[in-house]
Amino acid sequence: MQELSHYIDGAHVKGTSGRFADVMNPATGEVQAKVPLASVEEMDHAVAVAAKAQPAWAAVNPQRRARVLMKFVDLLNRDMDKLAEALSREHGKTFPDAKGDVQRGLEVVEYCIGAPQMLKGEYTDGAGPGIDIYSMRQPLGVTAGITPFNFPAMIPMWMFAPAIACGNAFILKPSERDPSVPLMLAELLEEAGLPKGILQVVNGDKGAVDAILDNPVIQSIGFVGSTPIAEYIYGRGCSNGKRVQCFGGAKNHMIVMPDADMDQAADALVGAGYGAAGERCMAISVAVPVGDETADRLIEKLVPRIEKLKVGPYTAGDDVDYGPVVTKAAKENILRLVQTGIDQGAKLVVDGRDFKLQGYEDGFFVGAHLFDNVTTDMDIYKTEIFGPVLSTVRAKTYEEALGYAMDHEYGNGTAIFTRDGDTARDFASRINIGMVGINVPIPVPLAYHTFGGWKKSAFGDLNQHGPDAFKFYTRTKTVTARWPSGLKEGGEFHFKPMD
Ligand code: NAD
Repeated sequence: MQELSHYIDGAHVKGTSGRFADVMNPATGEVQAKVPLASVEEMDHAVAVAAKAQPAWAAVNPQRRARVLMKFVDLLNRDMDKLAEALSREHGKTFPDAKGDVQRGLEVVEYCIGAPQMLKGEYTDGAGPGIDIYSMRQPLGVTAGITPFNFPAMIPMWMFAPAIACGNAFILKPSERDPSVPLMLAELLEEAGLPKGILQVVNGDKGAVDAILDNPVIQSIGFVGSTPIAEYIYGRGCSNGKRVQCFGGAKNHMIVMPDADMDQAADALVGAGYGAAGERCMAISVAVPVGDETADRLIEKLVPRIEKLKVGPYTAGDDVDYGPVVTKAAKENILRLVQTGIDQGAKLVVDGRDFKLQGYEDGFFVGAHLFDNVTTDMDIYKTEIFGPVLSTVRAKTYEEALGYAMDHEYGNGTAIFTRDGDTARDFASRINIGMVGINVPIPVPLAYHTFGGWKKSAFGDLNQHGPDAFKFYTRTKTVTARWPSGLKEGGEFHFKPMD
């Protein structure tokens, strides 16, 4: 049984708390490693190491810091397959999807290579008589991030790349479900030239998170995960005086207008609903066709596509559409929610409950499910299922469809499929959701834009990556300077007493 470690002060360090969590192989249902769960003392030690290392890193000029990230990008590309393999083994997602996870993190690292440009301050020459004003962006000091299981490469990189580029030290508390890739990333960054103590990985659960929340040295916390935990971390972190941004759960609606290309909409829904077994915060989990005829046509197109989905382990090759869900508990929760859907009167059009994969009977595979006639009072509509379950809510009009997406408590992403520019434009303008796709089912913005939801999907006022990240990981100092007049008259030739 492999025992994983923490990564503190440039070395793999064994856990000393005596507490561990099992790291599963979701495809086989076997325990493949155990990960240490840090105590408050272990976290505090890492914070002290970070605090000692950070001032020297902040003093390295931004271009040199960026060069470490440049080298890191090379190393990520060199080790892409190795990282993706470790990621698939612990998470369960397919190998190409695991590479995508690394790639979308890498793109934010590439963006952060522009740190010298992003960190330039502002300058006003002659703001008053002999007065200049300038502002600079300075690092916060020791920063921390708490990340979810579903993107174990991408989301840590979204946090630590800008934090480090800005001259901070960063402590990563990754998900205890798939901690290996974060540990590998820390090793690669050190190989790229990052000084010891600037990126540390401290594994753990609630105990380690609370140690982050209560440590007075930590200046900022980034969190991505479920909404109840996001709310908890935001509340406690803010009341402890930290800068906090938390990104939570989702229930993303895709509206299908009668004029949409129905094949295109069905293909998009199948990829966005079932890809990564639905374990994406930008997955589409609710389809909202407008008009009964649209709904009937859509369902007719969806059913054969869903029945054809290939579910399997990442080792089965690139034509697998999605893999197992992350834990047995997640599988049971998904099947429980499916049952509530049936009990509360939704029509189960594709039933994946009996799905079994020969040779992988103990794996956490869940068959694809499609519901029709879902209503807004049902649990499957209100709850984030985070599994391969797509609900169809029929709307009579565009306004009714828009209202469903607007009234849902989550506001991470949404999409509309239509050929009509006026409808698309109206939708983009009026919807109260942070990321909008027009004929794009998963509108995850690229690295140089920002990522973030609205309503119960995000807490705090800045988004992830893009220019917002440079704001989040720095604070502004503004200097107003007036210099008394100097020796503009030239040299003194006569010996005079001092006065
Ligand atoms: P989670 O909330 O269970 O865990 C996230 C992190 O919080 C982990 O590091 C975990 O160790 C820690 N944690 C768990 N319980 C805690 C507690 N009681 N106190 C303190 N810390 C605790 O989330 P998950 O299951 O790992 O990830 C899935 C969730 O993340 C989904 O809700 C998904 O929508 C969301 N997510 C959101 C985004 C986004 O950008 N909005 C992106 C990815 C995932």
